[in-house]
Amino acid sequence: MPGFFDTKIEFLKGVGPQKAALLNKELNIFTFGELLQHYPFRYEDRTKFYKINQLSDHLEHVQVIGKIRRLETIGMARKKRLVAHIEDETGEMELTWFKGIQWVAKKLVPGGTYIFFGKPNRYGRKFSIAHPEMEPLTAAQEEKSFFQPVYPTTEKLRAKYLDSKGISRIMDILVQNAYPQILETLPVSVIGQFNLMAKKDAIRQVHFPDDPEKLKRARFRLKFEEFFFVQLRLLKLKLTRTEKYRGQVLGQTELVGKFYTDHLPFDLTNAQKRVIKEAFADMRSGKQMNRLIQGDVGSGKTIVAFISALIAISSGTQACLMAPTEILATQHFEGLKEFADMMGLRIDLLTGSTKKSARTRIHGELLNGQLHILIGTHALLEDVVQFHNLGLAIVDEQHRFGVAQRAKLWAKNPKYYPHVLVMTATPIPRTLAMTLYGDLDISVIDELPAGRKPIQTVHRYDKDRLKVFGFMKKEIELGRQIYVVYPLIEESEKMDLKSLMDGYESIQRAFPQYPTSIVHGNMKPADKDFEMQRFVKGETKIMVATTVIEVGVNVPNASVMVIENAERFGLSQLHQLRGRVGRGAEQSYCILMSKYELSKDSRVRLDTMVRTNNGFEIADVDLKLRGPGDLMGTQQSGVADLIIADLSKDAPILTMARDAAQQLIAEDPEITLPQHAMVLRQIKNQKKHAVNWSRIS
Ligand code: ADP
Ligand code: MG
Repeated sequence: MPGFFDTKIEFLKGVGPQKAALLNKELNIFTFGELLQHYPFRYEDRTKFYKINQLSDHLEHVQVIGKIRRLETIGMARKKRLVAHIEDETGEMELTWFKGIQWVAKKLVPGGTYIFFGKPNRYGRKFSIAHPEMEPLTAAQEEKSFFQPVYPTTEKLRAKYLDSKGISRIMDILVQNAYPQILETLPVSVIGQFNLMAKKDAIRQVHFPDDPEKLKRARFRLKFEEFFFVQLRLLKLKLTRTEKYRGQVLGQTELVGKFYTDHLPFDLTNAQKRVIKEAFADMRSGKQMNRLIQGDVGSGKTIVAFISALIAISSGTQACLMAPTEILATQHFEGLKEFADMMGLRIDLLTGSTKKSARTRIHGELLNGQLHILIGTHALLEDVVQFHNLGLAIVDEQHRFGVAQRAKLWAKNPKYYPHVLVMTATPIPRTLAMTLYGDLDISVIDELPAGRKPIQTVHRYDKDRLKVFGFMKKEIELGRQIYVVYPLIEESEKMDLKSLMDGYESIQRAFPQYPTSIVHGNMKPADKDFEMQRFVKGETKIMVATTVIEVGVNVPNASVMVIENAERFGLSQLHQLRGRVGRGAEQSYCILMSKYELSKDSRVRLDTMVRTNNGFEIADVDLKLRGPGDLMGTQQSGVADLIIADLSKDAPILTMARDAAQQLIAEDPEITLPQHAMVLRQIKNQKKHAVNWSRIS
């Protein structure tokens, strides 16, 4: 039986079928429960009133009490407007309406006193407010809350009187009806420990706050609850997995020792050693490993993955590494093949473009166990790819995998799920990691290999191009190579390709003495490969390219990265691109070229790049600028459950909520204790409503 909160909103007083249909369509609100969670996005302080002689152009929204002296309609037809002349004891002003004239005129009685609210503008000596909100003085005085909610709404809703005020009106009715029915969702112990406001009061206060302090506590409580249930779900998932799924005991390290003493070309950083130990502890534990490795660009995640694979192979199993793109998979393959060959191990590459004959061979060698390591793209997930005994699956992720995809990877070993190592391509902020990957254990490589000189980054305007060319010439004469990267996005592909070609030509004109390569996505793979190889071999000095090189080539001799139209790139993309240089012993440079006029966000992005090389810091800024909603893969992960909580601003609350969830799980893993009954009920409730997300297109 549907409960009160599942009631369709058309049955709410003041809504009805028409408005309900509009609320469904515009705001995705179908039920009482969903409307209750349509929280205000800000609040206006209506405790302060202005006198007319205190008004100024600089004020945003003001509240004025005025008596109507007279109303007049000016102009004809579509230019018609209604003007109300009002006064208080300090002066006179005007209010103007261009729409809804008849409706307004009916509401305003000359001689009556009203509260008006809106943005004042000066016209000549007088102030005027266009389309103010208004209400008779008496009613307003009776209103309990002077701290007024402002609700998200849309043009279409506004046209049907569901502006912020209108939503507030129906919300008032709903909250009054709902209040006695709102049940607590958090245990008494949690409420006590974190001094939380009761759920029903939090709902009432967030919509109709009595005072700023109560509002603050209400918002805290609701954010806490959202984080708590997301974390609880993730922690429970993690727990079930470690309890239920046994992993193969992979405790042998013979190959690791051999690789270490005979072949490893450098010393591992302490961070790399620590992370390898963490993975090894998991793999030998008898429980299935699910671990995320976070590390900045160039922190050396690949070698950590390879050494983990050596553990798996030493222990008699196979390993695979899946990468998001063919270029990246190929690069991994080429890099790791060198190591595998030294160790006498069989390694192969499987992508969408692997020929049929090779494919058949690979399938066979996987099954009979001859092949030790398989590198590839999503092609690895196909059902025909079956292993003799897959012990470790490594995923180099650009974006979070879907749950379904991960399950496919698991199914590659029907007897024991393989141990799983996930590597992020770029760092993500801790709060986001805890939410996107909260069901995994997290290892962080927080140290770059020794001897790296920090990349120097500068921002130059297009008008400085000649100077930049001069700098490029000097670097090439020192024997270095240079990338010049252009943006290319689908929406403006033609224009982007043209500016890439123009850029290529102007570079050829400026540097006729140096051979230049060009690579972009529209070229045939073979041509692309040919040009890349020329650059890798040092035959060409400059590589003009689109972002295909973002995850592509590794050329230690390339020490300068010029990024054209840098304002059009996202922060993490800029950071990824910059990571293509600084791989050798030389001082490296990143030059961000942009036009002069920049939006505020673009400027923050470029300034951040100039200021810091730290990928974690950059990821934090990126999250603040873009918000988590923009990041891929967030829909299925619990980020979608965050309505009022904000990952970029509420990190401390998230930490508290995760602690609370952890305590609860530790005490009552199955959530069966009577004092946790409300938690279980809420989880079931959320499951029941989870289907609602499918309505979002
Ligand atoms: P990422 O973490 O971005 O995937 P890679 O694994 O591609 O980084 O490593 C970047 C480069 O650093 C590679 O050329 C790799 O061989 C090198 N490298 C990795 N670890 C070390 C180390 N401890 N000392 C020196 N060079 C290292
Ligand atoms: Mg990498």
